[in-house]
Amino acid sequence: MKIIMLGAPGAGKGTQAKMIAEKYGIPHVSTGDIFRANIKNGTELGMEAKKYMDQGLLVPDELTVKILLDRVAQADCAKGYVLDGFPRTIPQAEVLDEALNKLGEKIDYAINVDVPDENIVRRMSGRRACLKCGATYHIEHIPPKKEGVCDTCSSELVLRDDDRPETVQNRLKVYHEQTQPLIDFYTAKGVLKTVDGTVDMKDVFAAITNILG
Ligand code: ADP
Ligand code: ADP
Ligand code: ZN
Repeated sequence: MKIIMLGAPGAGKGTQAKMIAEKYGIPHVSTGDIFRANIKNGTELGMEAKKYMDQGLLVPDELTVKILLDRVAQADCAKGYVLDGFPRTIPQAEVLDEALNKLGEKIDYAINVDVPDENIVRRMSGRRACLKCGATYHIEHIPPKKEGVCDTCSSELVLRDDDRPETVQNRLKVYHEQTQPLIDFYTAKGVLKTVDGTVDMKDVFAAITNILG
């Protein structure tokens, strides 16, 4: 099963993608996580990506597409995957589509997690992330057992540089301009499903599993 998560930054794509990955036994592929791992390890790719990420801008398509295609070509993706944060532009979606076409494959579902802009800024300022294992928390809605410490790997939790309110506004603008058109793109392909992302994360997940079966 090949699934794409769509939605504004902070809509809960990552939170839901992790649960989907676990339930259906497919890898969770997050381009944001891949970039952050590269930044942490000081790779050339990481340094290039950081320039854009810190401003709330998208990393250029050429760079992003290559990383994603390499990742989904790995053996663990053979039975499917859940993409979180990719595609984010029409050209990215087109490249993915072509690559899948060549293999005689296609995206089965594009799940649009719908959250209005008003809720987003609050979500992002409360988000705390584990840079080691990728786990995500929310100080009010989904707190870790011990404040500031990851439940899974006991590492320190941080407010991502790009989750500060100034940057969030930019990311929302970029979302509306460059990523939202994907809703029409996947609607036209007949695979778009929209769920209400404002309810409790368990209820969002229930709506998603209803769709995926
Ligand atoms: P969020 O989950 O909050 O939407 P991500 O972790 O997906 O954030 O992405 C963080 C940043 O990484 C983005 O703001 C962007 O700069 C970069 N990024 C991630 N995925 C892509 C992509 N598919 N295309 C371009 N840039 C990306
Ligand atoms: P995205 O990957 O779309 O950027 P995340 O999954 O990282 O979004 O979620 C953004 C923030 O909102 C995180 O702090 C997360 O813990 C929190 N969150 C996710 N889903 C919900 C929900 N249904 N209700 C409240 N907060 C949520
Ligand atoms: Zn962790």
